[in-house]
Amino acid sequence: MKFTKKASLLGAGVVTMALALTGCNSGTPGGSDAASGEKPYTVAENVSLNGSPTYDKITSEGTITIGVKEDQPGMGYKSLTTNEYSGFDIEIARWMAASLGVSEDKIQFMPIASSNREQALANGQVDMYVGTYSITDNRKQMIDFAGPYFVTGQGLLVRKDDNSINSEQDLAGKKVCSATGSTPIQNIRENFQQAIPQEFDVYSKCVDALKNGTVDAVTTDQAILLGYAAQDSENLKVVGEPFTTERYGIGLKKGETALKDYLNQTLTNGQEIWTKIYDSTLGQAGSDVQATQPAVDN
Ligand code: GLU
Repeated sequence: MKFTKKASLLGAGVVTMALALTGCNSGTPGGSDAASGEKPYTVAENVSLNGSPTYDKITSEGTITIGVKEDQPGMGYKSLTTNEYSGFDIEIARWMAASLGVSEDKIQFMPIASSNREQALANGQVDMYVGTYSITDNRKQMIDFAGPYFVTGQGLLVRKDDNSINSEQDLAGKKVCSATGSTPIQNIRENFQQAIPQEFDVYSKCVDALKNGTVDAVTTDQAILLGYAAQDSENLKVVGEPFTTERYGIGLKKGETALKDYLNQTLTNGQEIWTKIYDSTLGQAGSDVQATQPAVDN
């Protein structure tokens, strides 16, 4: 079995009590099956959240703008044929919006590349960001994070017929592609100085470069790479083990402490919902992503 449910730190009784104390901020688990198309949460009513300018803006406008990725299959992906967004991050984003009382049809997804995330949050272009966004001390100086809601690690994607790269030890002299402003490109530049770094704004351009032979490897989080490998398993493969720890957070404007606490509580109270979201996205057949819900600590 791919998914092992993490031993719950919060017993069921504690979760129930926390919900009772805080009102219905996570939406109750709907009891429905996410895999069947129904959502495992409900849109919260009577939300009580004071001291959050972002939440005040969301309620006065009646919509929420959420920054996402649109080219990362399984995580944050927009179908070119239907224009529908899908993936684990997208479902987490919809759940967070629902816990704030915002229904799916009132969500505006805005694709924002890795290097533009802090700025988009700081200038209010997006109300929150949910897109493979690692919590780092550096970023925490500019923005706030709720979470983490997912943990993965940096990995490597190579052409299926290339047997010269089997782990991060094999990168000397290799052209290694990642996204500008990401933690993996920074890691390559700082700790793998014999590799030849190549950057694009988004990972799908790295994958194109890998396929046409312009680069030798794509490096970013394993969860992202497994999505590309699943999409083109004839030509691509993920090699080696994750060699960093990437903890995904929900990006918020700096100083949004009340909103951060609220979303943290949604995550903490919603272990059942998280599991259903995971099962309906990354836990599906064809995906090799393995994960359990991490404890919130931000
Ligand atoms: N999680 C890493 C980061 O936040 C890589 C993925 C991404 O660029 O979104 O930098």
